[in-house]
Amino acid sequence: MPVLVMKFGGTSVATLDRIRRAAKRVGREVANGYDVIVIVSAMAGKTNELVGWVEETATFFDAREYDAVVSSGEQVTAGLMALTLQEMEIPARSWQGWQVPLKTSSAHSAARIEEIPTDNIQQKFDEGMRVAVIAGFQGLSPEGRITTLGRGGSDTTAVAFAAAFGAERCDIYTDVDGVYTTDPRISGKARKLEKIAFEEMLELASLGAKVLQTRSVELAMRYNVRLRVLSSFEDNNENAGTLVCAEEDIVESNVVAGVAYSRDEAKMTLISVADRPGIAAAIFGPLAEAGVNVDMIVQNISEEGRTDMTFSCPTDQVSRAERAMEEAKEKGDINFHDLVADTDVAKVSVVGIGMRSHAGVAAQMFRALKDENINIKVITTSEIKISVLIDRKYMELAVQALHDEFGLDRAA
Ligand code: ASP
Ligand code: MG
Repeated sequence: MPVLVMKFGGTSVATLDRIRRAAKRVGREVANGYDVIVIVSAMAGKTNELVGWVEETATFFDAREYDAVVSSGEQVTAGLMALTLQEMEIPARSWQGWQVPLKTSSAHSAARIEEIPTDNIQQKFDEGMRVAVIAGFQGLSPEGRITTLGRGGSDTTAVAFAAAFGAERCDIYTDVDGVYTTDPRISGKARKLEKIAFEEMLELASLGAKVLQTRSVELAMRYNVRLRVLSSFEDNNENAGTLVCAEEDIVESNVVAGVAYSRDEAKMTLISVADRPGIAAAIFGPLAEAGVNVDMIVQNISEEGRTDMTFSCPTDQVSRAERAMEEAKEKGDINFHDLVADTDVAKVSVVGIGMRSHAGVAAQMFRALKDENINIKVITTSEIKISVLIDRKYMELAVQALHDEFGLDRAA
C-alpha cells in the first residue's frame, strides 16, 4: 500500500480533544488506502517547560541528560495518539526513536539523523497494522543514548521517514494554513503560496519564517520529498496548504517569492583593525570556533593601514562573540580599538529563484527602501536572496514596502 507521512505539531496535539481530531484526519487517509506514518511533537508548551526544568536544575548541564528529559514530551503524545487510533478501531502502534531505531550522531541536543531502518515497521504494516506513530524529535546515539534533533526537530523526523519509506507525500499539520509571502501579522496583504521551491523555502526557513525546521527542508530537497504544510484546524481539500517542491514543478512564479525578517540579529563592529593579509582569518576563525554564526560581513576601505570590520550574528551570540574577540586580542592575534555591538537592528530579506534570471532586483529593493527613508546598514546577497540590516524600528515598514514593491499580494 502507498505510504503517507503525516506530522502533527505541538498545537495540533495540545489536548486530548485535538489529538482526537488529528486521529480522525489520519483515519480518513487510512480509509483512502494509505498506510500512514504519523509523527508527533510534544503537546504545545511542553518542551519549553522541560527545557526550563533542566535549566533550573543545572546551569552547566550534561547534554545527555537534557536529551533524556526533553525527549519525554513526544513519548507521551505518541502513546496517546496510538491509543486514540485504537479506540477508533484503526490498528496502530507507537515507536520511540530508540525502538525504530532512528540512528543519529552523538551531538546531543542537535543530533543529525544517520539511518532509519525500515524493516521493523514495514513488518508490522505487512501484518495488517495501518498506522505507525513515531515520537518526533528523538533518536539513538551510537553510544546507545537518547538524542534530540534540535528545537523543531520533529519536522526533520517526518521528512526523514518520508524519504526512508518512499512516501507519496509528507504532510506537516500546523497552526497556520501554509507558507505566506510574508508574515500576515506584519502585512495584511500577505498571501498564501500554493507552491514554493525547496531553495526558496530553505532561505525563508533559515531567515526566520518559523514554519519548518531548516534541516527538514534540506533533507526534503536532497531526497525530493514532496512536503505539504497545512492547517490542522481547517477542513482541507486536495489543494490545501502550500506544497514545497522542486523548482521544475512550479510553472509560474513571481521573481520574488517572499519577504522575510529577523529581529534576532545584531551588528558588531570592530573599530580600527590593522588591515593586513590574514586579518579576516584571524577574526572569523576564533568566531567560528566559539560557535558564532556570522551572517553578513562588511570590511570598510582602509585608511593608513587600519579599517573597520562589521559583521552580524544572532543576538544571543553577542557575548560569545565579544569574548572570542577579546581573547584573540589578548593573545595578540588581532588588534582593534573597540568592539561595538548594535542590537537595535533587524534583517529584512527578499527571496526568490526568479532572481537568478532577473537583473535589477537589488536596485528595486534599495529604491523602495529609499522611498521610505530607511537607511541600510549592511547588505548581503546570494543567488536567490538579498538581505539588508536596518534600524529595528523600521522593520515592519520595510517589510510592507517591499511586499508592495514586488507585487506579492498578487499571484504571478
Ligand atoms: N517538541 C520539540 C520542540 O518543541 C520538537 C518539535 O516540536 O518539533 O522543539
Ligand atoms: Mg515546529
